[in-house]
Amino acid sequence: MANDRKAEMEAALATQRDAFTSARPEPLSTRRDRVQRAMALLKEHGEELCRAMATDFGNRSQHQSMITDIAGTVNFGKYCLKHMDKWSRSERRHVQFPLGLLGAKAELRYEPKGVVGILSPWNFPVNLSFGPLMQVLAAGNRAMIKPSEFTERTSELSAELCGKYFDASEVAFFTGGPEVAAAFSGLPFDHLVFTGSTATGRRVMEAAARNLVPVTLELGGKSPVVLGRSADLKQAGERIALGKMLNAGQICLAPDYLYVPEEMEDGAVAAVELAARTMYPTVLANDDYASIVSDRHFDRLQSMVADARDKGAEVIEVNPAGEDFSSSNARKMPLTILRGATDEMQAMQEEIFGPVLPVKTYTALDQAIDHVNANDRPLGLYYFGQDSGEREQVLTRTISGGVTVNDVIFHVSMEDLPFGGVGPSGMGSYHGVEGFREFSHARSVYTQPRIDVAKLAGFKPPYGAATEKAVRTMMK
Ligand code: NAD
Repeated sequence: MANDRKAEMEAALATQRDAFTSARPEPLSTRRDRVQRAMALLKEHGEELCRAMATDFGNRSQHQSMITDIAGTVNFGKYCLKHMDKWSRSERRHVQFPLGLLGAKAELRYEPKGVVGILSPWNFPVNLSFGPLMQVLAAGNRAMIKPSEFTERTSELSAELCGKYFDASEVAFFTGGPEVAAAFSGLPFDHLVFTGSTATGRRVMEAAARNLVPVTLELGGKSPVVLGRSADLKQAGERIALGKMLNAGQICLAPDYLYVPEEMEDGAVAAVELAARTMYPTVLANDDYASIVSDRHFDRLQSMVADARDKGAEVIEVNPAGEDFSSSNARKMPLTILRGATDEMQAMQEEIFGPVLPVKTYTALDQAIDHVNANDRPLGLYYFGQDSGEREQVLTRTISGGVTVNDVIFHVSMEDLPFGGVGPSGMGSYHGVEGFREFSHARSVYTQPRIDVAKLAGFKPPYGAATEKAVRTMMK
């Protein structure tokens, strides 16, 4: 069975690569048409895809899915359409004196790589497969996509729709579990984009390394929030609660934990609680609030809270309507704040990926900075405050994939900024011109003038005085 799937994917890759090679050079209008078809698929079937996501999650707001997965991805396609002409223009580069005067030319061309594999997770199943696809197509590539098995209906529907909008030689979906995913990541693509956990990312990179396939790894991690003493607590509370509760915290960039000045802890916790109550007056009976995607993930979050309680954290469940979660199988979990979190707790040792918010305190800002530096480089880092000196201290003394100041998550929505991690939170990026370049090969093209440059430069045997002069000049 697994061998059949592998053979099927190998055949699809061969078909796509043949089609890619024989169609070159493709005009930009062909690329544009593909991006437009991907956008049309989402526009024409967005509601259907949102219903599939709601079924996969148990509950997921149609409004939220329309924003995060459908409209946001269409908008990114629009951005690619607007900029792809400019991005794909070749660049003149400098040639050393006096070669320019002699007619030499240096040029950099951004050319498609070929067939790009896209492996995507379940948390934003449409956005994280069709988002990279937009830029992969804009750069002139073909694509094969393996979406997550956890959002099975969405993945099946995406595959079916893809068949209606694209020829299999342009874009093709392959559904299946970890075995299919492992085989997929071992294919000799021209580039592979993986979005998912750091642990799986490691396996994907190992598999890709066997074929020297270049990878973009969009991974996770613990994105900290550092609250400065000059922060507007009410506003920070609202923004942190919104970011932590969107998709029930199942976001790679969700604010993972909160670092606050000791004397501001009460105020910060109260501000987050108030904002959570205001946005979600009920949780269980509230369609705006997403379920946790699977029983396994739900149990992991429950045991994380139990572990924190056992190790001395104060556990605050924000349950404004006093709903009874124990008698429900909806996999809904209220925002759960862990006061007095310590590094020994599971919640401070792994990416949370759910509505649990550990709070740690500092007396001097250095403690927060040192803590960030002592741990894996995070995907996002958030600073709240009006003190620009303090902000720069946090920014210049830590390293993270990206930063949002005075909010959380939002840097990913800036289409012109590259999005990606660093070290254990990922490598490479997409969005912005950087994404186009990530999926392109920057090909150097040098044109030699008619004159015998090698002889003129003293590089041509028999070596002698001209060679020695050239060496002396170069080392001067
Ligand atoms: P995951 O790593 O479990 O799965 C992601 C994909 O990898 C799925 O398609 C899965 O089928 C596939 N996969 C599973 N086993 C594999 C193997 N052995 N070899 C190759 N592929 C395999 O991640 P998930 O649970 O679906 O998603 C959650 C994680 O993704 C979190 O860590 C989160 O931070 C991260 N994430 C990152 C971003 C980002 O843009 N940086 C975005 C969303 C999620």
